[in-house]
Amino acid sequence: MDFSNSIELDDDLASLINHFSSVNHIYIKCFDDSDKLIYSPEIPENVKEFLDSYIDSEKEQIILNSFIDESPETLISGDTFCPYLRLKAICIRDSANKIDKKATIIGVIDDNIPDEVSIPSGVLLTNEKDFDDACILFSEFMSNYFKQVYKNLESEKQLNELKNKESKAFDSSKKSEALANIYRGLESDVNFKDAAREVLSSAGNYLEISNAFILEKRSDSNMVFMPVEWSSSEDSALQPVFDHVELRILPFLTDRPYTISTDSVLPEKFKTFFDRFNITAGIFLPLITGVDNTYYICFVNIKTPRRFTVPDLQFAEDVRKVLKTIYSKKNNEESLQNSYSSMEAILENSSCGVAVFDANYSMVIYSNSPYDSMFYNDIDRKTMSRFLFERVNSEKKAEFFAENEDKYFSISFSNIKWLDGRDVSMATVIDITDFKKNEKAAIEQANTDFLTGVLSRKRFEQDIVREIRDAVRSGDNGALLLIDLDDFKGINEGLGTKVGDSLLKEAGEALRLIAGKRGYAYRISGDEFAIILPSIYNEVLLRLTSAIEKRFMRAWQLEDSQYYCTMCMGISYFPKDGKEPDEIFQHAEFALRVAKKKGKSQIEYYSPEMNELSVRRLVIESAMHEAVSKHIDEFVVYYQPLIDANRVDRHLVGAEALVRWNSSKLGFIYPDEFIPVAEYLGLIIPIGEHVLEEATKKCRYFNDYGHPDFRINVNFSMVQLMQKDIVGTIKKALTVSGLNPSNLVLEITEGIATKDPKYLTDTLNEIRALGVKISLDDFGTGYSSFSRLKDLPLDEVKIDKSFVNGFGQDSFSESFVKNISDLADSANMDVIVEGVESNEQKERLKGMNVDIIQGYYFDKPLDEEEFEKKYLN
Ligand code: C2E
Ligand code: CA
Ligand code: CA
Repeated sequence: MDFSNSIELDDDLASLINHFSSVNHIYIKCFDDSDKLIYSPEIPENVKEFLDSYIDSEKEQIILNSFIDESPETLISGDTFCPYLRLKAICIRDSANKIDKKATIIGVIDDNIPDEVSIPSGVLLTNEKDFDDACILFSEFMSNYFKQVYKNLESEKQLNELKNKESKAFDSSKKSEALANIYRGLESDVNFKDAAREVLSSAGNYLEISNAFILEKRSDSNMVFMPVEWSSSEDSALQPVFDHVELRILPFLTDRPYTISTDSVLPEKFKTFFDRFNITAGIFLPLITGVDNTYYICFVNIKTPRRFTVPDLQFAEDVRKVLKTIYSKKNNEESLQNSYSSMEAILENSSCGVAVFDANYSMVIYSNSPYDSMFYNDIDRKTMSRFLFERVNSEKKAEFFAENEDKYFSISFSNIKWLDGRDVSMATVIDITDFKKNEKAAIEQANTDFLTGVLSRKRFEQDIVREIRDAVRSGDNGALLLIDLDDFKGINEGLGTKVGDSLLKEAGEALRLIAGKRGYAYRISGDEFAIILPSIYNEVLLRLTSAIEKRFMRAWQLEDSQYYCTMCMGISYFPKDGKEPDEIFQHAEFALRVAKKKGKSQIEYYSPEMNELSVRRLVIESAMHEAVSKHIDEFVVYYQPLIDANRVDRHLVGAEALVRWNSSKLGFIYPDEFIPVAEYLGLIIPIGEHVLEEATKKCRYFNDYGHPDFRINVNFSMVQLMQKDIVGTIKKALTVSGLNPSNLVLEITEGIATKDPKYLTDTLNEIRALGVKISLDDFGTGYSSFSRLKDLPLDEVKIDKSFVNGFGQDSFSESFVKNISDLADSANMDVIVEGVESNEQKERLKGMNVDIIQGYYFDKPLDEEEFEKKYLN
């Protein structure tokens, strides 16, 4: 398989690479399989000169040339002869292991630059380890990316092959029809000329040529006549110019057949003749070579090129035989017996099955050997005969399925006079099994998504049009649900495409089952799915969305372990939110984007006000920049008590610090709205430091005033944790506040998306070495899985509030909490259950291995004043 040239670096990929280079402080160039540059980074001129002066195109070529087809390397190092420059190259191989793309990666290693060397400003610096890691990551990213591309190409190719086969099979059923028409000429009552015209018209149409005609050479004339002509259109008729042409200009009037395609080599005589009449290809066959008159049958193409195939020539030969028989019959030259045997000869040689039967007596009176060999099974043969007798008088065409042999046949009927003069019926039969099977596969393939088995995007585009139309007609509303997986990228990149693929399969299957008979599930692209609900009632929609939500809260069984991956959903109604498919899709997409911005597991319905929301996002972004740089105190910390689960007296063990933004510009904002923005802008780092400082100070204060064991839980997002000197930041906060490290707990929400799980583990271990504890937040959602509980260095697990919510509603939530608690207990971890809102929920937790309870049942997060008033005594 050769995909080269078919894949270019599109803009999206180019900008991804651009982003990747600048984040990782490396320089990447991409080349195609013949080493032509297809992507180079946008960098300042002086930086480019600096890099080029060390790594010129010759060095580049040397490293690019060291990749060989059919060998396994995808990442190699090159020589730069400079201590502080590193050069590596990667290559992408297609599924046949042929090199398709290459890239060079350059890194400037800060630690190795001697003091006396000055590096131009603007050069991105990195270190040895980061550079190596970035190269590996880049190589993996590219190979996964293109794997997907190759897969798509492959399936497209298969589809095309199927379509080709399909058109061939279609051809054979057309052929049965044409032959049936032509054979009918055998018994027609009209004169030879009229019968021949009929035959030529069927044949010409089937062959898709421009003209079919008969030429007559008379022994007493040196002119040639055209007694019969058929032409595909009136103005392409040859007759006005061709009748009465001189013998000498026609090169084919011998007793041999000529079959000349457009790309055949033409002898001079043919060339002149073809040019004269604009003929591009032709089949010329002697029809009757008598003493007086000689007839030729000719098929020609005019102007457009044509290459004849072997079946074309066979077909022309069949036509010739039929015409010859008709001619003989009309001229009464042959006896009945003779004409029977010549007819039989024709039918025997036909490429399709022919059965002639007398409908009055339900009796087959003749069948040719292709027909006889169509069935091995006698039952099928008999059923087929019965089928023919039943249909013959009512239908011209029919399709028959032979159950025992699992074959399909296309049948054309015509009524003819048999050689003995009685009226009979003739059926031409063609085996179209291949066609049928391909057709089925092709329809299925076009309609279903090859990976997940749900309906395809193509099908979606057709269906949505129909559903909108139906909804408009019935006056009800339908709904379009767009569903996007929250953690797909992380899982796909972190665990490999194999796991990613099985997640898509599982998710697609789940959506298909949930949609059930009420709607249809589709895969739109990547990890985006859709469900169309025709004419819905709100109740149905709610039941459906909550079923989907619930399913995505549970783990997915991928390969041999369990993972969590939630989804966000955007919903629009039709025709309420629009009558055009594009409009409805865009609105659902818009709602989806809003949902995504809010975080994981969010569902949003489209509303026209949403446009205002995106304006709000911009306003938040700019206000946040300003607040962080000028008024960090706008970010205030609230405290929610953590209560000992095993005491009856509401014993306080600590608090969780929860930030709010009291913005002078926008008012009071909750973290669910602004934390994602802060993470996106990178401002979570200064905000998080501020929260950490405040919270550690407050904790120390509580410790000093009568609560020596009071501990504080502080939330840390992944962005903060992956920051270079996070351990230093924590150390500083501990020093400044003078807090006992064992009273500080960091809450993390673990992500598979962490490109480097080892780095995460190392960092967590360093933090624990300070005496600080680690708590895994929101357990049961996102990426967390049972096995990761053991892999990560943890002191505590916080079970997500959705589980307490589920108490009394599903059987699964309660046993989940119990199982996790037992598991955590056996691993010496504490368990916090959050989101406890009622006494009943609290009671249900009794007897489970839960250590700490948090929730509105005890208190909402309180500002510092209120919190102190209530708990510092
Ligand atoms: P989280 O860490 O899961 O925090 C618990 C959230 O649940 C808090 O929402 C809390 O007010 C709420 N909650 C507590 N008890 C109940 C209850 O009984 N019922 C219900 N329905 N909710 C309850 P909040 O304060 O809005 O925080 C939302 C999220 O924002 C937090 O979720 C956390 O992920 C993030 N966040 C808050 N503060 C910080 C911070 O300082 N840094 C970082 N990185 N993230 C933070
Ligand atoms: Ca938390
Ligand atoms: Ca939580």
